[in-house]
Amino acid sequence: MTTVEKIKYLTGITSQGIEKDLRPYQRLLPIIDQYFQAYQSSSDTALQQLSRELIKKAKTTKEVENLLPEAFALVKEVCRRQLDMIPYDVQLIGGMGLHRGKIIEMKTGEGKTLAAVMPVYLNALTQKGVHVLTFNDYLAKRDAEWMKPVYEFLGLSVGYIQQGMSATAKRNAYACDITYATAKEVGFDYLRQFMAYDKSEIVLRPFHFAIVDEADALMIDEARNPLVLAGNLNTPLIDYHEMATLITDLKKEEHYQLDEAKLNTFLTEKGQTLIEKKLNINDLYANENYDLLSAINLALHAKVFLTKDIDYVVLDGKVKLVDEFTGRIVEDRKWRNGLQTAVEAKEKLQLQSEGNILNAISLQHFLKKYPKLAGMTATAQSSAEEFLDFYELKIVVIPPNKTCIRVDHDDVVFATKPLKTQAILHEVKRVHATGQPILIGTLTVKESEELAILIKNEGINCQVLNAKNNEKEAQIVANAGKFGAVTISTNMAGRGTDIKLGGVDEAERKEVIKKGGLYVLGTNRHESKRIDLQLKGRAGRQGDVGESRFFVSFEDDLLKRYDFMEILPQKLHKKIDKTQPIAHGKILQHIDVTQHIIENRFMDMRRNLMEYTHIIELQRNVLQSEGRQLFLNDQYLKDYIDLIVEEVAATKLSEATLTKIKKVILFYYDKYWAALLSDLTAMRENIHFVRLGGQIPLREFRKISKELFDTFLKKIESDIEELIFKLIKNPALSLEEFGYNRPSSTWTYIINDNPYGNQLAVMLLQTGNIGFTADPISATLLFFKALWDKRKS
Ligand code: ADP
Repeated sequence: MTTVEKIKYLTGITSQGIEKDLRPYQRLLPIIDQYFQAYQSSSDTALQQLSRELIKKAKTTKEVENLLPEAFALVKEVCRRQLDMIPYDVQLIGGMGLHRGKIIEMKTGEGKTLAAVMPVYLNALTQKGVHVLTFNDYLAKRDAEWMKPVYEFLGLSVGYIQQGMSATAKRNAYACDITYATAKEVGFDYLRQFMAYDKSEIVLRPFHFAIVDEADALMIDEARNPLVLAGNLNTPLIDYHEMATLITDLKKEEHYQLDEAKLNTFLTEKGQTLIEKKLNINDLYANENYDLLSAINLALHAKVFLTKDIDYVVLDGKVKLVDEFTGRIVEDRKWRNGLQTAVEAKEKLQLQSEGNILNAISLQHFLKKYPKLAGMTATAQSSAEEFLDFYELKIVVIPPNKTCIRVDHDDVVFATKPLKTQAILHEVKRVHATGQPILIGTLTVKESEELAILIKNEGINCQVLNAKNNEKEAQIVANAGKFGAVTISTNMAGRGTDIKLGGVDEAERKEVIKKGGLYVLGTNRHESKRIDLQLKGRAGRQGDVGESRFFVSFEDDLLKRYDFMEILPQKLHKKIDKTQPIAHGKILQHIDVTQHIIENRFMDMRRNLMEYTHIIELQRNVLQSEGRQLFLNDQYLKDYIDLIVEEVAATKLSEATLTKIKKVILFYYDKYWAALLSDLTAMRENIHFVRLGGQIPLREFRKISKELFDTFLKKIESDIEELIFKLIKNPALSLEEFGYNRPSSTWTYIINDNPYGNQLAVMLLQTGNIGFTADPISATLLFFKALWDKRKS
């Protein structure tokens, strides 16, 4: 542990970014209550009339803030009438927090869905559109339908987005005053709008306000993953299948080696010679073989680092990634830059075109496009610093409606994994015999399945959550609180679903309460305390009884990966009991220390990545949001033509010529942006090499990216001028003369921003070299030279 890390740990998590004083919110409660009391005796039509007046008022006032008490009270009363639920005071406070643009922390089961309805209504009064961004499609639909009677009663429209909806259906849903959707789908639509050649093709309205549900997962864990829009512009020239075959005979150590961090492969001289012979080329490292070298490296990477059924599975002839955190198959995810294709080739599958990346944005930068943003989650406090740093959002911790009486037992810790597994089985048997329901939280689906077999061998029936179907998962989780139920689930599975004691029919509720409520058993510590808390929070909802206990061993993947035994001072090693649960306080404390170090490393990595993507984002804004969008406007186009062409007035040009000019300009913007993005991304992956030359990567990145950008901008400007002159002179020229080539189809996916499969953790311990060759310096030069050559041509 470094000194800085030690200090950070010893001083504890800072309270920076957490708003402790709830009085400004509480002060409004009596005022809201006054209105609420009055509304109870009003007729439906009177309340609806009131809502119409609020909508009118909202359009004339600058700030809807003044309407808060009336609006919240109105929603409260309508919830009573339409949903048979009266929002609690803590939900009103949560709602105020959301309205003020905070991340609110409300424990699981406290009713965040309902708490959001009040600020949603208040901010939707201006009818500029409020988005509620949910964790998955299933929840978008469920929550929109659940709350619809309230919004519609109040005269506001509500819609929801589902993946694969038609453009028309989406446009209608976005046109509603309130739209429930997953963040990623709105993000994809955001990217798609930059492909529009006419305003009518855009489905989104300008952003206004968004509330992010499960904010910790979306805004932190998933934040760095780029959303990608790809299209088929040209086909790859490299035969990836050939590359995959080519490297099958390569032997470790003899033909290739791994670097110290076991993150990179590089060819030995013998390996290089062998490849050159097979490919019949002279020098694999020559400039013209740059693409071949990359493809060889990708093939090698796919062979050495990515393991079938761990990092990915093959389903229906396609490679599908397995999420490193949840162990679940993620449908719309790919590795970046050719690695996906290399794995397809390795598995001898038909290659799915990755296409050309036309546009990309990280979830984090996308969310920041909303002028006003808020979030809600059960666990935010321990990530306060990050929410503040990354989003400038503060956290408000909302107290539970009923005090939480869940008992969180101390972890049971063992030196070895087999001992831990034995203890888990013993505990499951003991608890199950009493009828108390158990929810077992694992790290991966694989672990869930292995544990399920062991439990079934003990004659205990259990349910495993690894369904790819969110709706089915929700049903299983909802019944995890039934008498005698044993449910095994990874931490993300079934998120957003309430576990009611006794199950959905609630008939057994009393019986389950007598047995102590839900028992949450964690089989591992997670990468962050926040995720542990998320799991614990599944028990003891709304003041219910419940308990939680984690089982840990020093041989757990996480502790092993982070060299727990090395962090543990030598003198404590002798105190480790290999046969019993560990009771030594100092040793146990070091598990927390390790977890804290891991949290910090993840955060530092995200911060580092953000610095780079921020620069890319600035450039995207200039080229795409400002430059390209302007030309969608016909008047702007005419003014622009008049500015650069003196001889002919734009108004004299035919509609057909103007349309042609516009099309090619938009096409140029798309083409240049895709090329720039690709260069910037490639550069980002390689820039750390400059460290070897004594330079600071980020500074170099900033410098080179600025130069690149200026080059692009100049080129695009001169291309546009040339195009306009040419078309005015000869309006009969075809679009193809200008290389015009719109992708025949586009598709979207999320890039797993971790090309190392499950080795992310290892990478964090290192400086993060991405090796191409035994001699990294020449690789850098090679890379930048290739980049500049490409640019010049
Ligand atoms: P969270 O997302 O905070 O975990 P949910 O929004 O899923 O919680 O709500 C949990 C449960 O509490 C739901 O079944 C909901 O019907 C119920 N609930 C929420 N608010 C109230 C309320 N004010 N009165 C009665 N039941 C409520």
